[in-house]
Amino acid sequence: MYKKVDSEVVEKLRQIVGADNVLVEADDMEPYSHDEVVGLRADPEVVVRATSTEQVSQIFQLAQRERIPVTPRGAGMGLSGGAVPVCGGIILSLEKMNRILEIDEENLMVTVEPGVITGDLHQAVEAEGLFYPPDPASLDSCSIGGNIAEGAGGPRAVKYGVTKDYVCGLEAVLPSGQVITCGGKLVKNVTGYNLIQLLIGSEGTLAVVTKITLRLLPLPRLRVDLLVPFNDFQAAANTVSGIIAQRIVPTTIEFMERDSVLACERYLEKEFPFHDAAAHLLIQLDGNHREAIDADYDKVGDICLENGALDVLVALGPRDQDRLWEARRAIIDALKKESPINHMEDVVVPRAEIPVLLKGIREIAERYAVHIVSFGHAGDGNVHVNVLKDDLAAERWEEIIPPLAEEIYRLTLSLGGMITGEHGIGATRRQYLPLALDQAQIEIMEEIREVFDPNRILNPAKIFP
Ligand SMILES: Cc1cc2nc3c(=O)[nH]c(=O)nc-3n(C[C@H](O)[C@H](O)[C@H](O)COP(=O)(O)OP(=O)(O)OC[C@H]3O[C@@H](n4cnc5c(N)ncnc54)[C@H](O)[C@@H]3O)c2cc1C
Repeated sequence: MYKKVDSEVVEKLRQIVGADNVLVEADDMEPYSHDEVVGLRADPEVVVRATSTEQVSQIFQLAQRERIPVTPRGAGMGLSGGAVPVCGGIILSLEKMNRILEIDEENLMVTVEPGVITGDLHQAVEAEGLFYPPDPASLDSCSIGGNIAEGAGGPRAVKYGVTKDYVCGLEAVLPSGQVITCGGKLVKNVTGYNLIQLLIGSEGTLAVVTKITLRLLPLPRLRVDLLVPFNDFQAAANTVSGIIAQRIVPTTIEFMERDSVLACERYLEKEFPFHDAAAHLLIQLDGNHREAIDADYDKVGDICLENGALDVLVALGPRDQDRLWEARRAIIDALKKESPINHMEDVVVPRAEIPVLLKGIREIAERYAVHIVSFGHAGDGNVHVNVLKDDLAAERWEEIIPPLAEEIYRLTLSLGGMITGEHGIGATRRQYLPLALDQAQIEIMEEIREVFDPNRILNPAKIFP
């Protein structure tokens, strides 16, 4: 179906982006052959690092003429194989398009190129007293372009929503090479279909995003973090829905099972308070008025203690707060170090169903006799379920993962949930899409894809089974 990249194509790519930005040596392919999914690898035939929208457009025109697949890539921190070039061809890296173009204080908007690292954007706007809330735990390494393509979330979704809630304008290059500009520095805009929201979460299968305008908020002046240990795993889970039911909306409610905390301790070589507790909640509140924040955290503390919390530890200063979040953000890497072979799910349920979901996952773990560690953004219903291989025999591991994943999905769907809350379908979950969506929805989505990309050169073999 696709043509191979030959020396003539490589030469044309060099003419478009300059020789330094075209990589063809075998050794240079490795970093671009995977994302953060364990065990999924495919080498591209060539890596092209674009530095402008015009170059992206020319690369597509060439790829169309030659029928060569193009896989866009941000920072390669994805957890569903979206940036892995499973059909070979061109990796189109946006890593060099990494300028913050404008922080517009009058309109409370920031305009960036897609390769900007999310944490760098946070720092730049916070230096001006402004706030971009979406905060994927990978923020020190992932790119805004990847966040848009995955519809990334993060702990602060409980109060502030996710990436899609902040995107006001997008420039994107279609697989034909045509450049479109949608929206702008507009808080409101209902002109025609909402193509911005269609592109968000499209996992690099409809267009390549080359410029992004994001809405900003004033930076909250105060922040309090509570670390709440529980001796009973289920009590911690019940507390999540208990807080929400009391109509308090904290900034975050993160859930960490004991083994994730212990893994972090070993990984970071730092001690965590109450590390033997069955589970911890990490709750953040923010605002501008000390009295209001104090009242909320008293109330949240009381709810936690009523639900059996061992203590409510309060971190008021940046040093203690940063230590807590350093540990939370290290969980995925820490678990990877404990068990280099592992399998991660990213299911999402209505938040009140969190206790039932976590209980069901425990039962599945017992039934399959595997080590499962759950953690994540419980306050918005999104739980990361890590199945660790540990010393399980390779054959047994291969045998159990597909049915086990399917059981987790079926449980989630039975609770009114979905099979991925923020990591995407990509290459790893596409065979399960029909479990979650009916045929009519899948057909409409495939037809949309056909309109954007009739020759299927953009990120093939992703999302659809
Ligand atoms: C330790 C860890 C913690 C994480 N925590 C979170 C979290 O809290 N929340 C969360 O949502 N995710 C999280 N993730 C997943 C991941 O970081 C996000 O999906 C992130 O958005 C990926 O960004 P990236 O730049 O690395 O994208 P990549 O992995 O490079 O690409 C991801 C997808 O986006 C496409 N793409 C990239 N750039 C563009 C572009 N400019 N235009 C069109 N398509 C493009 C790619 O083709 C691919 O399909 C975590 C990952 C890790 C490893």
